[in-house]
This record gives sequence, C-alpha cells and structure tokens, in this order.
Amino acid sequence: MLCKYTISKLLNIPEYKVEKIVSITDKEIHIKLAPYKNNNAVCSECGKIHTKGYHSTDITIAEDLRMGERRIFLHIPKRKYKCAESAKIKTEAISWIGKWERVTKRFAHEVNRLTAITTNKEAGWYLGLDDEKIYRIDKMILDELSKVKLEPTPGSVNISVDEVSYRKYHRYLTNVIDADEKIITWNAKGRKAEALDKYYESLGRNKCSNLESVALDGARTYISSTKKYAVKALIVLDRFHAVQKINRALDQVRKDELKKARNIKDAEFVELAGCKQRFVLLKKRSNLTERQAVTLKRLCEVNEPIYQAMLLKESFLQIYESADIKQAEIQIKSWVKQAEESSLKIFQELAESVKDKTEYILNWFKKRIQKDLTTKLND
Ligand SMILES: [Zn+2]
Repeated sequence: MLCKYTISKLLNIPEYKVEKIVSITDKEIHIKLAPYKNNNAVCSECGKIHTKGYHSTDITIAEDLRMGERRIFLHIPKRKYKCAESAKIKTEAISWIGKWERVTKRFAHEVNRLTAITTNKEAGWYLGLDDEKIYRIDKMILDELSKVKLEPTPGSVNISVDEVSYRKYHRYLTNVIDADEKIITWNAKGRKAEALDKYYESLGRNKCSNLESVALDGARTYISSTKKYAVKALIVLDRFHAVQKINRALDQVRKDELKKARNIKDAEFVELAGCKQRFVLLKKRSNLTERQAVTLKRLCEVNEPIYQAMLLKESFLQIYESADIKQAEIQIKSWVKQAEESSLKIFQELAESVKDKTEYILNWFKKRIQKDLTTKLND
C-alpha cells in the first residue's frame, strides 16, 4: 500500500493532502482529502480570507481524473465561516472544483477535450456519465472561458483562433489566444467571420498590421476575414484542426461500415467496430494497449474501407513528420492522390479541401503553432 504522502503527490492537488482512502472497488476509488494546515479558507461571498467566525464543515464529493481503469471520487471538506462583510454563513470557495457540478476543474477540461472530438453521448459513454451532465460540464467551461476577455483588446504578434462549439445546442464561442503569451485575449459568442471581424475591429488598424501569424481551423470565412484585416499575417491551418478533420472522416467511415454490418447482421463486425471501439481508431497507434492493437489489426483485416481510412490517417500524420517544408509539400501531394484514388467519398472530398488549402497547411512549417494551444491553457 502506498503511503498517503505518495498518493497526495500523485494526485497533485494544490494545498490538499490525502487523509484516508475511503473505499476501493474494481470501478471506483474514494479518497478523503484534508487541507494543509496553512491553507486558509477563501470566502465564496467576498473573496477574502476568513480566519475568525468558523461555523462548520461539509463534505463535497467531486469526480476527478481516472487512475488506471478506476474512477476517482474526492471527498473534500468545505469549511463554512460567518462572512465578516455580509454577516451570512458562507462556504469557502475552492479554486480547483467547479461551482455547481460535482467535478474537479481538470476533470471538466478532460470532458471538454473529449467532446471536441466526439459527441456528448459517446463521451458520456466513455466516462460513465449521461450526456446531459456532459453538456452541463461543457457549459461550465464555456462560461468560465467567456469571462476572460481583456479590455481593451491587447495587441499580439501571433494569434490562434479557436472555436468552442456545442453542436447539439447550436452555441458557439470564438476564442482568440495570444500564441506567445498563451493567454486568451479576446472572445465572443458566435462564430466564423462575424465573430472574427469583431475581434479585428476591436484591435484597430495599427494593431492588426502588427499581426505576423494567425493560426485557425481552415474555415473559409476565417481566412477571408483575416485576409481583409490582418493583411500582413501568415495564415496557418494548425495541425490540431487538420488532424481533427481526418479523425472525423475516419470515424464517419467506421459509422457507415457499422450501419452496413448491422443490416446484414454481421455480429463480429458490429462488436469490432461498435462505439466501444471508436477510440481504437482515433488514438495514436503508439498509445494503444496490446488488446486495442489486436482489435485494430482485426478491424483492418476484415474491413477494406476502414483499412483504407486508417492508412490515409496515418499517412496524413506522416506529413507533420517531414524534415522541411519541401518534403511536406511532396507528402501532401502524394496524400491527395492517395485519397482521390481511394474508394472513400468522404476522403475524396477531404482531398479537394486539402488541395485547396495546401498553402495554409504548409505555413504550419514556417510557424509551428502549439499543437493544441487551448489544451495547454486548460492544464
Ligand atoms: Zn466573506
């Protein structure tokens, strides 16, 4: 059994240590935390530290990131004080847990990352949560992000534009991130040119002309907006979004094949390509467990379209391993040809778009924007 000190280190929660392990089952571990002695309670009402007027302590249970295959639940003491400002009994605010949802913020960000690549339903299935809860967690992050707008809009040299979307609810938030400072400098509800135009307008002509590079997801409207305002900026289709598109196409092929297999009642294939296995296709090959690698191999053996799509994904990833921009250009050309010659309509369409945006994809080699800046920010 690990000592509490080691588990505290592993958990890595600021100012809290493990008091005891409440329970361990095959599926869940419950851990009781305690604040370090010098950890003072911050009032959720006035934001100040109260040392006098202690009232009582409640325990909040919040889900945290998994360990191994098990879900982790933290039992966190929350102290109550009589607030000196309002004279009401108020619970302390803990910076690393969400206000309303019973999850740690880092867990919420994990959910948010997952919903960027999959539906709420599938993310929920994966995490053992219902999709309404997934939505509420996502919304919590959206609200948190929409508070960070700086006034007036600070000038930047390199920016990255990121769109957070809640497809199911047709809500969008556009974030502009300073790629050097790694902070969100501006955001607005809404999407595409409409949102980005507003950003450039809030910057003003001078600051716009200082922009050297703009990384974005490749959307036509973002590109045209940028060309109009940030005339000198290098437009970069960032790697994260490019790979995301390839992953979505691959998943569409899986879904199409699954549908066909269900129609002809091919039970083995339905099991192989079901929702449970989608991550086998999306994960990096080197990150697969032995069992997942076997599943992937079998999938590729029994299904030609999935095999083709998998090869296309891997050769697309290969583009980013190119030694220089020249080699990357050759690789892109050969990828486009490979996709056009495949029997997969969705990849044929992607080939068109890649051909169209080759210049922006190649610009990534001139200005390597962080693979996933927002993920970094959320850490
Ligand atoms: Zn207070």
